[in-house]
Order: sequence, then C-alpha cells, then structure tokens
Amino acid sequence: MKFFRNLKDIYRKVSEVENSIYTGKQDYLEIYERNLQLEKEIEERTKELNIANKRMLTLQHIWDMMNASRPLQSVLETIVNSIQGELGYLHCNIIKKCEDENGIYLTVLAQSDDVSIKRVEKLIKIPFQARRLAYNPKSVYAKSAELKEIIQTSEIGQTLKFIAPDIDDEIIEEIVQNNPSKSIINVPLYTRNSHYGWFNVFSSREDLTTGETDFLTIFAQQIEMAITIAGLFEEVKAQAVTDGLTGLYNRRYFEEYLKKEVKRALRQQQAFSIIGLDLDHLKQINDQYGHAYGDLAIKTVAEVLKKNARSIDTAARMGGEEFNVILPGVDSQGAMIAAERIRKALEAEKLDTIDHVTASIGVATFLEHSDSIEDVLELTDQAMYQSKRNGRNQVTLAKPITETSWQEIAINTFIDILSKHNIPIKNEIAQELKTKLQQPKDDASKDALFTVADMMTQIYNPLHHTGVIKSKVLLAVSLAKRFDLPKEDIDNLRIAMLLYDIGNLMIPQELLQKATPLTEDEKEQIKKHPIIAAREILKPISDIQDVIPIIEHHHENWDGTGYPAHIAKEQIPMTSQIVLIVDAYYALIEPRTYRAELTPKQALEIIKKDSGKKWNTALVQEFVTLVDIDT
Ligand code: GH3
Ligand code: MG
Repeated sequence: MKFFRNLKDIYRKVSEVENSIYTGKQDYLEIYERNLQLEKEIEERTKELNIANKRMLTLQHIWDMMNASRPLQSVLETIVNSIQGELGYLHCNIIKKCEDENGIYLTVLAQSDDVSIKRVEKLIKIPFQARRLAYNPKSVYAKSAELKEIIQTSEIGQTLKFIAPDIDDEIIEEIVQNNPSKSIINVPLYTRNSHYGWFNVFSSREDLTTGETDFLTIFAQQIEMAITIAGLFEEVKAQAVTDGLTGLYNRRYFEEYLKKEVKRALRQQQAFSIIGLDLDHLKQINDQYGHAYGDLAIKTVAEVLKKNARSIDTAARMGGEEFNVILPGVDSQGAMIAAERIRKALEAEKLDTIDHVTASIGVATFLEHSDSIEDVLELTDQAMYQSKRNGRNQVTLAKPITETSWQEIAINTFIDILSKHNIPIKNEIAQELKTKLQQPKDDASKDALFTVADMMTQIYNPLHHTGVIKSKVLLAVSLAKRFDLPKEDIDNLRIAMLLYDIGNLMIPQELLQKATPLTEDEKEQIKKHPIIAAREILKPISDIQDVIPIIEHHHENWDGTGYPAHIAKEQIPMTSQIVLIVDAYYALIEPRTYRAELTPKQALEIIKKDSGKKWNTALVQEFVTLVDIDT
C-alpha cells in the first residue's frame, strides 16, 4: 500500500511540476511579448529624443551666435543653414518685407547655401538676393501675414511667379520639374509686435504634422529674437561715442564735436588746429607678429595721445590706424610743438616683442590755412601723406592753398560745357546750373560743384541720388593716396570723377534705362561713352587735357578685355583703374531698374572675384580694406 501511496504522491508532484511549467511558459510568453513592445517603444522614444536633441542643439547654436553679437545677416545665414538638410528640408530662406516710394517689395535677407538653390539660380541668372521681389496680395506671403499662421503650399511655380514676375514661364516650369521640393512652408515673422517678413522652408514632403508646426513656430521665434536683438544692438552701437579697442572717442563723436568747435571758432574768431596721425607700417607689424600685436600698436598710440593731450584737447580714433586730435585755441605753431611732442613720446615707448612703433603726422589750422573745415581736414591729410613720402616718423605742417585749385578748374570746365550747347541739355537747365556754379565762394556754395555733377548725372540716370558723386570722389581720393599718387594726379582724378560718365548724355535715354538685356549693337553704342566724353565734349577745354586720358580709359580691364583701346596692365593709367573700381562698387550698391541694391559686403565679394582680371590685385586689396574700415 505504501508503494501506491508513494506513486500517487509522485504523480501529484509530476503534475504540479507540469502545471508550474505550463504557467511558467505562459508567464514567459507574456514577458517576452511585453519586452518586444517595450523595445519598440524605446526605439521610438529614442528617435524622438534624438530629433528633440538636434532641435535643441540648433536653438543652442542660435543663442551662442546672438551672444557673440555678430551682424544680423551672418546670424541669419547661419540660422537658415543650420536647419537646411534637417527633417527633409531642402532649402530655407528669410525674406523681409520692405517699403519705399514705389510700394511694398520683398528682399531675401538670408538663404541656405545648398544644391537646389544653386541649380535654380543658374537658371534665373540674377540671384534672388540681388533682386527686388514683388509683393502680390494673392500670394502665400500675403495670406500667412494676414492670418498670422504657418501656411503650406504645393504651388511652388505660382509662388515663384508672384515674387519674380519677370522670370519666363518656361524657366519656372523647368525649375519646378527638376526640383525635389514638394511644398513650401511659409512662416510669418513678427518683431516687436509688427510684421517683419517670412521664414520659408522648401520641404521634400507635402505633409505637415502638428509636431512639425510646433517646432517651426519655436524656430521662428528664435529668428524673431535674433532680429530684435540685432536691431537693439545696432541702436546701442549707434549711440556709442567711444572706440572699443582704445577707449578714445570714435569718428562719430569727432565729427559732432568738430561742428561745435567750428561754430565756436567762427564766433570768437579764434583759430584751432587739427593733428592727423597715421601709424607707420602697421600692415608689416600685423604680417610679422600677428594681429594682436597690431592691436597693441594701436592701443599704444591711444595711450600716448591720452597722456600728451591737454584736458581740453579731443583725441579720436577715426578708424583703423588713423587718429585725429583737435586742439582748441591753438595756432599752427603751437600745434606743431604738440605734434612733435606726441611723435617723440610714441617713438620712445617700449613695446612687448615689436619693440617700438612710429607714426606720420600732419597739422593744419582752421582760420589760418582755410576757413572751410573740409579744406582743413583735407590739408591735414595731405600733410600727413607728405610725412609718409618724406620717410615717415615725422611731422609736416600743411602748405597754404596757392595755385588754382582743382575745384576752380572743374567749375570752369562745367561752365564751359554748359555754355557751348554741344550737349543735349535744355537751355533753362543749363542756365540754372551755371548760376549755381558762379555763386561767390562761401560755405553755402561749397558743394555746388558736386550738386551740379549730381544734377547732370540725373539727366541720364533718374535713379541717381544727390550726394553720391561727392562720396565717389572722396573714396577715389582715399584710394589714390594709398598708392602714394602725386598731388597733380589726385587733382586730375577728382575732376575725372566728376566727368567720366558725361558721355552718357549723348546716348539715347531708352538705351540707358532699358530693363531688359541689351543687344550687341546697343552694347557697342554704350561702350562709346568714354570716347564721346573724352573727344567730343572735353577735348576743346584746354585746362583739362591731363584729365582726358583718365576718362578715355576708365573701362579698360587689367587683363586687356575692356574697352575702347583694349590695353592691359601698366598701360592703363592707375587713375583710370581707380575710376573703374569706384564706379563699379557704387553701381552695385545702388538700385538699378533690373535689380535691387546689393549690400556693401555682397558688392565687395563680386569685386574680389574679378581681382587680377578686371582690376589690379593690389588695387582690389586696398579697396577692400578701405571700404571695410568705413562700413
Ligand atoms: P603706412 O606707413 O604707409 O601707413 O603703412 P601701413 O602698413 O601702416 O598702412 P596701410 O594703410 O598699408 O595698412 C594699414 C593696415 O592696418 C591694414 C589694416 O589691416 C591694418 N589695420 C587697420 N585697423 C586695424 C586694427 O584695428 N587692428 C590691427 N591689428 N590692424 C589694423
Ligand atoms: Mg599706416
């Protein structure tokens, strides 16, 4: 019996084990399935986290840049480039809504640098950033701004046609056909509560999930913040009166202060002097020891000026390595003593590694050398360059103005041209311009020459702004001085800058204003303007015979591909090359009938591209540093 009892026990135990195995298996299966589910969820969560992280990184990046206070355009460029390529976004841009007397228009502030835009821009010739784009009330731009909402559209061709109606339909068709973008996501941007522009994303998908909309909304807020902060930063910068590197006053303050000093001097009939100082061989210091030592040299000059100036003297850093000091109540004799003291003190200063630096100095006195402050500044500059030419590290006093000035020659030339009636200007206008030029020489008539040149330019170019010619002359002269051109060449260059395009007066209006590309014949006709100016208009005027070759060759290129004589390299007068580069730069930063104006940065990029081709490489280098300092 015992055996059976035992056997039963065994059976029970076996079935217990069996049971437990069975339930164990059930549990195991359940756990296995649950694990699979979990793994899948984890995978999804990880993906989401990764995307979120990437988004966070992009946002972090934007913050870093804003704190580095980089100029707005480069911040925006980095922003659009940072998102291009993410989440299937093929191209991104930021567009600003602008308004002027001709109405509302759009400009591209920044666009991502990618293959799709490169392909499109090859087809449309003029890049979007150089265009004045149209604002059409029926476009997605108007709709999203009105609704204050993100709008997605798959009408890429139509949207393009709205903003650039001049592009041919076939080209638009070609763009759409060959483009992998399926939709544009248009996000309106607001800054300080007003509508600013749009952020556009060209997506490879036609859908737009809620998550994506949220993300783009946050992203757009970052752009808005960058724009707002950059605006505030610019405002603060514009209010600043001191220079960051040296703590001296900046150019802005100097100019304001100078105006007051001129008034005071005239009221009290008491002279004041200006000392102009330029560091010697700073470029060499930069090249040999590095920029930090160049900065040290600049700071040393500032320290010497602070130590050696009286409390009523005002020392300013005008930009780069150029400094001016105003000495109230001091005549030229006193100013020469002060300048020499500064020169000696700088020379005696011992600097880390570079040992010592020197400067070239010019001195001129208001009410002594001239009672026009522009003349005095100009004379200070000329005297400073005289110091450079004589071997640097010295002080030169400005020479009194004696011989017939270039202004008089230029005024006489204009009067001559206007009197001969051989240019197609209406009689009344010619008369009015002549009267302007013949005014007595006082401060009010100081700019008459430039005004008349501006007005004559407006006859053949209605988009020309008053004041531009004066800026062009100043820029050309600064450039010429960097090449140590003699005074006579510089004076001839000034006159050439006023007259070089006068041949355009003889070219039909329709041709100069044409918004569509010119035919070969028309191009030939326009190419004649340097010859017309030189031979027909200016030849009969005896005083400006040395100016004529400058004008005749102001369209010759360094590599010989220019016109009219196809000369190259050193055969081209340096002054003609200067006219060409200044003219080209201003043409790029001014609006044209067929495109919007470019920024100085964009214009410089274009000029740099033709270095060694259109112009002498050394000229481009000097030009770029000159314009960079000013902007
Ligand atoms: P010169 O004796 O004829 O005046 O020769 P230079 O080399 O001093 O003059 P140039 O005008 O040929 O070059 C000026 C250089 O100064 C070029 C520019 O890069 C440099 N420079 C301008 N501003 C700064 C600055 O803030 N810091 C430094 N380190 N260099 C500067
Ligand atoms: Mg220098």
